[in-house]
Amino acid sequence: MPGAGKSTQGNLLAKKLKVPYLSTGHIFRELAKEHTPLGRRIKLVMNAGLLISDSKTLQIVIDYLKRPEYQKGYILDGFPRTLGQAQKFKNGIEKVIYLKVSDKEILWRLAYRDDGGREDDTLLAIRKRIEVFHKFTDPVIEYYRKKGQLLEVNGERTVEEIQRDILKHLKVHAK
Ligand code: AMP
Repeated sequence: MPGAGKSTQGNLLAKKLKVPYLSTGHIFRELAKEHTPLGRRIKLVMNAGLLISDSKTLQIVIDYLKRPEYQKGYILDGFPRTLGQAQKFKNGIEKVIYLKVSDKEILWRLAYRDDGGREDDTLLAIRKRIEVFHKFTDPVIEYYRKKGQLLEVNGERTVEEIQRDILKHLKVHAK
C-alpha cells in the first residue's frame, strides 16, 4: 500500500542483507521530473493515483536488474503491483513481504506525511491509490500466498518492531 512503510523497511533490509534496493516509485518520481513526453505522461498518471503501464514498468525494472550490482540479489520496493507484472517477471522473486496496514491508517499517514508530502499525496489521489491497490495488487498478494512465498507482517507497529519481525521470519540474524 502507499504509505505502508515499504521504503523504510526495504532500505533497512537491503542494508542488512548487503544487496541493492530498487524502488519503482522512486524511479517514476525521478522520471516525472523530466521535461520529456515520457516524464510528463508519468507525472500525469502518478498524480492521478494510477499505475504506470505494465510494459513500461517491466521494461524499466528488467533494464535496471541487468546492471552488475544486482547480480547477487536485490530488494524490490513496490514491484510487482499487478498480476501481469508478477507473471511476466522472470528475474526471480524469492520472498514477497506484505506490510499490512488498514485503509484508514493509510489515509491518515499519507494526508499527514511528516516529510512535507508528495505531489501524489492529494486526498483524491490517495483515495485512488488505495482503490487501485485493492483492484490490482490484492490479486498479486493472493498469487504469492498460493505459491507459498508470501510473508505477511503487521505494518501498524514501530519501524523497529516490524524490522525485527521481518528478519525473524527471513531467518536473518543480526551480525
Ligand atoms: P510508491 O512510492 O511505490 O507508492 O509508488 C508511487 C507511484 O508510482 C504509484 O502510485 C504508481 O503511480 C507508480 N508505481 C510505482 N510502482 C509501480 C509499479 N510496480 N507499477 C506501476 N506503477 C507503479
